[in-house]
Amino acid sequence: MRLEQKGLTVWFTGLSGAGKTTISCVVENELRSQGYKVEVLDGDVLRQCLTKGLGFSKEDRDENIRRIGYVANLLVRNDVIVLVSVISPYRQIRTEMRRDMADFVEVYVNAPLEICEQRDTKGLYKKARAGEIKNFTGIDDPYEPPLFPEVTCNTHQETIAESAGKVLRKMEELGYYLPLMYSQNGSNLQASDIF
Ligand code: ADP
Repeated sequence: MRLEQKGLTVWFTGLSGAGKTTISCVVENELRSQGYKVEVLDGDVLRQCLTKGLGFSKEDRDENIRRIGYVANLLVRNDVIVLVSVISPYRQIRTEMRRDMADFVEVYVNAPLEICEQRDTKGLYKKARAGEIKNFTGIDDPYEPPLFPEVTCNTHQETIAESAGKVLRKMEELGYYLPLMYSQNGSNLQASDIF
């Protein structure tokens, strides 16, 4: 375990299929392998427990985010790094999260709607286009991109490792992540040497 670890929320926002879960998973594995305490709060998973019963109106989406933010805060004050992976389409509630959290990094996981729709990792775009799902972000519900995210991952142009590397480098730059890796001659390696 890292004694020097500081709590942080890394907030991944973006369309369904943009790459939030994929990138947060790579970042999680990297941090764990380096001895950090990490938790992932994934919107799809939490909607089956913590936020079960909430729908997709603006009010319910905001409530979903507030509950997730509450849990993130509890973890962060116990020095855990929390990777929040939720569409979180509304700028105002994300701003509220930033305001309420001392340690906060926003990652805009960006890919054009056409690409997310081609990927259709969960088959949801097809259903939304067929009218089987209502209020689907990007189709018949808005997505408001962040104006000043700390990191932007353009997942249609980057490899998964490049996108995850951007997040880790920002964490390193801000002092939340210090990779402990040594090259064969014993010198310190930085995240930028790996990704
Ligand atoms: P989300 O969690 O945002 O709904 P997923 O992570 O479930 O999205 O799906 C993203 C898809 O995009 C995956 O199939 C992943 O392999 C692919 N992908 C391609 N390039 C990238 C990248 N640079 N970062 C993240 N995902 C990528």
